Amino acid sequence: MIDDIFCKIIKGELKAEAVYKDAEFWVIKDINPQAPVHLLIIPVKHFESIHEVTDKDASLLGRGLMVADKVAHDLDLGDKGYRLIINEGEDGGKLVPHFHIHLLGGKKLGPKIVK
Ligand code: 5GP
Repeated sequence: MIDDIFCKIIKGELKAEAVYKDAEFWVIKDINPQAPVHLLIIPVKHFESIHEVTDKDASLLGRGLMVADKVAHDLDLGDKGYRLIINEGEDGGKLVPHFHIHLLGGKKLGPKIVK
């Protein structure tokens, strides 16, 4: 795992290219894009994993999907489609310990399950 760079980005301590911001979510461009469009939907509120989410924050997670879909449509990905991915834990390949959703699109993506 690496530091929680997403909290640093939200606090303004690190730079990132944001395509959307509201009080609950930031959407930034991934620094190492794996598709023509590769965005990260990041809650402003810090929690590391889905496992930490309580009933109080369950609706926030749902709203994260809505934010992803809104941004996808704003970028004209809505008709052709896109993919959302959440990595969890070591086996899931999570690197940044701050919950986030990857949004990938802009081309026909490959097989859904990676090796
Ligand atoms: P994870 O593997 O934790 O699900 O994904 C973390 C993602 O954050 C990776 O795709 C990685 O490229 C991206 N990332 C790592 N450091 C930075 C950074 O400083 N800025 C941005 N915009 N993305 C980053």
